[in-house]
Amino acid sequence: MKLDEIKGLGSKRIQCLKENGIASVDDLLTVFPYDYVDLINLSPPSACVDKGNVAVLGTVIKAPKIKYLRKGLFLATVVFKDESGEEFECGWFNRKYLKNTLPFGKRSYVYGKVERFGKKLSLNNPTLITATENMPPIFPLYRPIKGIPSSVFIKAIDAVLDNVNINSYLDDSIKETYGLMELNKAFRYVHRPPDRKLLDKAKSSITIENLSCNIALYSILKRHGNKSHVYKNNFDKLNEFTDSLPFKLSGDQSKAIKEILEDLNSPKKMNRLLQGDVGCGKTVVALTAMLYTAMSGLQSALMCPTEILAKQHFNNACKLFEPYGISPTFLSSSISSAARREILSAIKSGEAKVVIGTHAIIQDDVNFNNLSLIITDEQQRFGVKQRGILENKAQNADYLVMTATPIPRTLALALYGDLDESQIHTLPKQKAATYTRFVPQKKVNDMLKYVLDKARAGEQTYIVCPRIDDEELISVKNLYEKLYNSALKPYIGMLHGQMSDEEKTNVMSDFSFGKICVLITTSIIEVGIDVPNATSIIIFNAERYGLSQLHQMRGRVGRGTTDSYCFLLSDVNDSDKAKERIDYFISCNDGFALAEYDFKLRGAGDFLGTRQHGDSFFSSIDRSDIDKAKTISAKLYESEKFKTQILSNTHGGQILFIENLTLN
Ligand code: ADP
Ligand code: MG
Repeated sequence: MKLDEIKGLGSKRIQCLKENGIASVDDLLTVFPYDYVDLINLSPPSACVDKGNVAVLGTVIKAPKIKYLRKGLFLATVVFKDESGEEFECGWFNRKYLKNTLPFGKRSYVYGKVERFGKKLSLNNPTLITATENMPPIFPLYRPIKGIPSSVFIKAIDAVLDNVNINSYLDDSIKETYGLMELNKAFRYVHRPPDRKLLDKAKSSITIENLSCNIALYSILKRHGNKSHVYKNNFDKLNEFTDSLPFKLSGDQSKAIKEILEDLNSPKKMNRLLQGDVGCGKTVVALTAMLYTAMSGLQSALMCPTEILAKQHFNNACKLFEPYGISPTFLSSSISSAARREILSAIKSGEAKVVIGTHAIIQDDVNFNNLSLIITDEQQRFGVKQRGILENKAQNADYLVMTATPIPRTLALALYGDLDESQIHTLPKQKAATYTRFVPQKKVNDMLKYVLDKARAGEQTYIVCPRIDDEELISVKNLYEKLYNSALKPYIGMLHGQMSDEEKTNVMSDFSFGKICVLITTSIIEVGIDVPNATSIIIFNAERYGLSQLHQMRGRVGRGTTDSYCFLLSDVNDSDKAKERIDYFISCNDGFALAEYDFKLRGAGDFLGTRQHGDSFFSSIDRSDIDKAKTISAKLYESEKFKTQILSNTHGGQILFIENLTLN
């Protein structure tokens, strides 16, 4: 089944889906709901105060009233009455079409936090669910996709569920032994749960099945892992290189380099994870390995999740490798097609020894001559498929994964197989401290005043918003607009994922050179950006991020000689569990400890967050799922049938069995 065979999806909408990483029916099926709303056994709103997010059913008794707060910002309020006769009010910001959606007399569900102000009950920015005749007992919420009405999206998923059959790699007997749900059923229940119990079972069945296959596959690949390329032991030159660096390598850096070189010189292929906090200096370790490879006449590739990061590494490499007569090659989607042709031919001939770039490196028409070392930076941001494709480009290449989001040991095993690990614990001598502070989100104006003071003093600030463009949450575009009409106007710039690579690079370079003083952005800046003059980072709705992600963002400041601040803005209450997490974050500056803490509390979601839309689903992975998966994978590892099936799978690398879809 193809996307264009689904009713309601024309070419325009298919394009919108593609822009959100949904290019096939398989992709669509794995866009899991981010939350579920219970629509049965509802309580009246007065019984829901302080109960977290709940659904309330009501009828509109006063149609929307609009109040303009200031330019570009208005509040629409609607009064509802619930079945038991209680009245409550809902407010939404900047919702133009609410009048059409919620006319007088309309019955609707609203989903959010019920608050009490005196006698008044209200919900602030709740999610609206239109009541229709056959409401399911549990309503799935999908992340909104621009250009796709949610009703269309839900129907599209229904169509896929009705028309495809998912093949499993697991025998029925294994499923029975471990209590796993049949896969087609599991996918149906994850999208259309009949009740919470079956939903949980469906989620964990999919998770366990997927993890089992991955772990088994990695073990099989490892068994097959002898390489044909040989490095030349150019250690003298290499020592010369490390001695010539503008700084002295830390003990952990030297140890990591030593471990990597030992791997490279062994006949077994390297499969190593290089972990270490933001700023610990992983780049130079990677570049040393790339130089060693180039001096052996072999090719290496460094793949980064963003163009900005790739460019940064590339510039670094150009400078450092120049004395050795090696000029690195840069490849990204923003390269013109004429230049690209030339680059591709240099890569194919083997003349381009050091290739640094984005996903552009793994496109079909990129062929290497003797690709021997593959390094991926900030791995967790790559899709599972991309990683596989890269591995497929060079079956026996040595493989180094770098991550600044330390991955809990058990999870690393599931994600990358049983790989070796180098850890960098020490940070290069820090010249400045970074202080972390909690700020109630309602004090936003004080915060902005602080930003203005800093800007006037010539210090730079990152402001991170949870969304690019959103009516309900603070978003990059809205905040930019707001500040554009304030004293901050001359200082601001914005950076987000909807901009072209070229625009992003320009903004980032303006920020690096101080032309932009206040950068309003999304968590896109979480990865590797290095601007020493940035001394504050302000993170709105901090409770929404994983602690590892927050830690990454915090690492963007404190890179120069001036003490720096990380402000976490949130409207969580002191009694909330979420506040406890934030407090822990404030008290702890060790990326490894933060990772373990969050893994225990929130599961694996934050570490797998390559696709925003799957987040809540993946969060459900826990240790017991992984333990089960390990046991099952051991059986798969022994199975000839599995081995044949999986190795003939063109995707190579890590697979999702969902790629094994066939039509009914
Ligand atoms: P990350 O591990 O986050 O990728 P980077 O490799 O970007 O960290 O390094 C952060 C900064 O620290 C860079 O400016 C780099 O040049 C510098 N650096 C790396 N190693 C050392 C060291 N041993 N001593 C001093 N500075 C270092
Ligand atoms: Mg880095």
